[in-house]
Amino acid sequence: MDAAIQIDGVTKRFRNTLALDRVSFTVPRQEIFGLLGPNGAGKTTLMRILIGIFAPDEGCVNVYGDRSIRLKERIGYLPEDRGLYQKMKVYDLLHYCAAIKGVPRIEIDSRIEEGIKRIELTGELNQKIQELSKGNQQRIQLLIALLHKPDILVLDEPFTSLDPIGVDRMKQILNEEVERGATVIISTHRMEDAEQLCKSLTLIHRGRVIRHGTLNSIQQEEGQDRLIVEYQGDSKSIQSIPGVAIEDNQDHRLRLRLNGDASIPDVIRELSTRLDVYNIVKAAPTLHDIFVRLVGNQEDPS
Ligand code: ADP
Repeated sequence: MDAAIQIDGVTKRFRNTLALDRVSFTVPRQEIFGLLGPNGAGKTTLMRILIGIFAPDEGCVNVYGDRSIRLKERIGYLPEDRGLYQKMKVYDLLHYCAAIKGVPRIEIDSRIEEGIKRIELTGELNQKIQELSKGNQQRIQLLIALLHKPDILVLDEPFTSLDPIGVDRMKQILNEEVERGATVIISTHRMEDAEQLCKSLTLIHRGRVIRHGTLNSIQQEEGQDRLIVEYQGDSKSIQSIPGVAIEDNQDHRLRLRLNGDASIPDVIRELSTRLDVYNIVKAAPTLHDIFVRLVGNQEDPS
């Protein structure tokens, strides 16, 4: 089987809330996979099912083709809410987590030393967790997820609280983990990060999968080209061009969405009769565009 994880018809209810509704998709091996969706979409619930905190009400999760897998040993998890023992010292916490994840006792110290260098945390081993900045607590959470060299990393909003240097370092580490052979699943609200990091993605909304596939295939499926237009004049004059919607308009720079019927040459001709156009380029829809279009309106996007 080529997939690292197969999610098959997973449904999860909390009292009256249907958090996941027959969710099915596969996560390919050895790549960074993005789980995207607005707040409340069901991402955390799905991740908790993946790591075995929750059982699905219906459906199943199949990891590396093995339904009876001892998940804990193969998965490293970074939870969204910082669940660290605040009063423990950094070294004690790392030692404890490594031991319960089955790292051989003789290797624990060297793994901690190596890991601390890797996440670029210096001189903090004797401090209590509560004394660390939020960003450094997030680095520690990543290290805990990595210590036992898991096959699968499940990272819930991993970039939370990190400064730009921390974000870049974490991205490098995730790419290194893929090179090591791991499969990495991240949830994020940051569309630019998902675009940069993830080869495949699933977009969930109200507990249902609304898009799944490679970034390219999702962009193609969107099927709506964008034009970036630099202009002078009154942009109101273009509102009546058929098949064209203004997505953004700032500093004499328009971002237009063309629906499937609009022909690009016709639109360019129309634009030039109404505005002084200095530059036009065609662009693929960004994940941000796709996300906003699918999730931003209240219609059922399926
Ligand atoms: P996301 O991670 O995409 O923000 P969640 O998986 O946290 O979404 O939540 C999905 C839905 O399930 C939300 O409506 C949320 O309120 C509900 N939910 C999640 N966990 C629980 C829980 N433990 N008890 C009750 N409702 C929950």
